[in-house]
Amino acid sequence: MIITRYGNVNPLNETEINSVSDDIIYGNYQFGVMRDGVFIPKYIGRSVSGLKIEIRQQWTNKVVNGNKRYTHFRYKKVMSIKAAFEQECRDFHDFKGLDNIYHPAKPAGTDYACPVNGCNYDEE
Ligand SMILES: [Zn+2]
Repeated sequence: MIITRYGNVNPLNETEINSVSDDIIYGNYQFGVMRDGVFIPKYIGRSVSGLKIEIRQQWTNKVVNGNKRYTHFRYKKVMSIKAAFEQECRDFHDFKGLDNIYHPAKPAGTDYACPVNGCNYDEE
């Protein structure tokens, strides 16, 4: 499997969100903050029907109308719902201190498993 890297870190604002390609259907994104020049992810997510729309919706919910002070974001395109789910799982396990409380949910109608060794999500 080819695992693409996340793109560059960009300021989280309307202009930068608008620059996300409309062509990306499946994707992953991270909202976060900069600390000593390093991007610290604080919220992770996936899209299964349009990455730009998903990013804008979550930015509106959490930053514009919410109380989250996420200042930067990055994202990546993936090729399938399964890939987006698995990337979200890896991000969930990789980063400490996320605002995401719950393990990423399986996409509706699938029985995909978390790809991270030792994760007992499927047993919950
Ligand atoms: Zn897991």
